[in-house]
Amino acid sequence: MNATETKTMYEQLGISEEVWAYGQKIEEGLRDRFRGFDETAEYNQLKVIRAMQENRVSEACFNYVSGYGYNDMGRDTLEAVYASTFHTEAALVRPQITCGTHALALALSANLRPGDELLSPVGKPYDTLEEVIGIRPSRGSLAEYGITYRQVELLEDGYFDYPAIEEALNDRTKLVTIQRSKGYQTRPSYSVEKIGELIAFIKARRPDVICMVDNCYGEFVERIEPSDVGADLIVGSLIKNPGGGLAPIGGYIAGRADLIENCAVRLTSPGLGKEVGASLGVMQSFYQGFFLAPTVVCSALKGAVFAARVYEDLGFPVVPDGSESRHDIIQAVTPGSPEGVIAFCKGIQAAAPVDSYVTPEPWAMPGYDSDVIMAAGAFVQGSSIELSADGPIKPPYAVYFQGGLTWNHAKLGILKSLQSLIDDGVVPAEKVKRML
Ligand SMILES: *Cc1c(COP(=O)(O)O)cnc(C)c1O
Repeated sequence: MNATETKTMYEQLGISEEVWAYGQKIEEGLRDRFRGFDETAEYNQLKVIRAMQENRVSEACFNYVSGYGYNDMGRDTLEAVYASTFHTEAALVRPQITCGTHALALALSANLRPGDELLSPVGKPYDTLEEVIGIRPSRGSLAEYGITYRQVELLEDGYFDYPAIEEALNDRTKLVTIQRSKGYQTRPSYSVEKIGELIAFIKARRPDVICMVDNCYGEFVERIEPSDVGADLIVGSLIKNPGGGLAPIGGYIAGRADLIENCAVRLTSPGLGKEVGASLGVMQSFYQGFFLAPTVVCSALKGAVFAARVYEDLGFPVVPDGSESRHDIIQAVTPGSPEGVIAFCKGIQAAAPVDSYVTPEPWAMPGYDSDVIMAAGAFVQGSSIELSADGPIKPPYAVYFQGGLTWNHAKLGILKSLQSLIDDGVVPAEKVKRML
């Protein structure tokens, strides 16, 4: 009886009988995977609670502070909580850091000086960093300040070309940037362990080089973070994993105290550093979001493997596949055509609690080099820890799907995406029926 009621709800939300049945079958086969994610979430939940207890988080941490923000105790304590959780000396966690790109640009510009060289040993960085670095000429880029950039391409298998990395390291190499998540690419996302091996290789040759990890989408996916395996700096966005869906803005940088101090004086001003920057009432959402983040990430991971299984069994290329271990919350699915990308995103949008009635369309987003379609019916604008999908309208016509504050919502969204592909004639309904 209860199961029938739930099925009826799916029907009312536009899911056909065969799509529902296909989803049930896939979910049934994922019980062990889901248990693994739950166990990681349990561990990480305890890690966060312990950090909050150790740093004596109190009600007063949620007070509204305006103006200069001297002695903003909520802000300072939160930074200590991040540092404890990620096992770093210090952290900078601020609403004045507007997004992940800003956090990365800040970490780079704060720790590089004219004449220094930046190295990416993992191929091309995330699209928005191209303009930060100056790979694509841009006003205010690191290149304009005389900071050069070098990149080592990945091997065929998506992993590190150690001899080429060794060769690329030189006297001017000051900072190495390692992107954990694949972003808008089809290479693998890296496990923390693999990142640790890469850092060890670099440090063995150049102990003084700063190793920074772009940790976007990676937080709480594993039990350890890159800061546990030698990263000097880890950087991320609060509109993603560590914001837990509640932080309305923000970015973080955690790592070595001297490097964080460089970031603080660059963010505010030399001489002022961490001492200023009022938290403007966002602290409760920052704390509460960080508290929820391990379980929210767990929901997103369940959605990601569910999507992988749903689409790979129908013959679409997916990265990672439905059985691989996970190192971030992104799932790439390749519908293979502009129509497929658009239909997929329409389905995700139609499943949203917010703006479900709007139809997403491709547009020229700032920072990206092709039109991008984004589906996001989010409580926080553009939030990608909430159920969302974005697809650059360029070959191979892949969609990058991520998030889901709850597993139940992620499941509905993925079923809706499949329904939309069927309704738009990209996937024949017969094909789904044959899978049952
Ligand atoms: C999202 C992301 C960024 C940029 O973060 P924004 O908050 O979108 O500016 C950088 N690197 C990676 C790997 C990302 O996933």
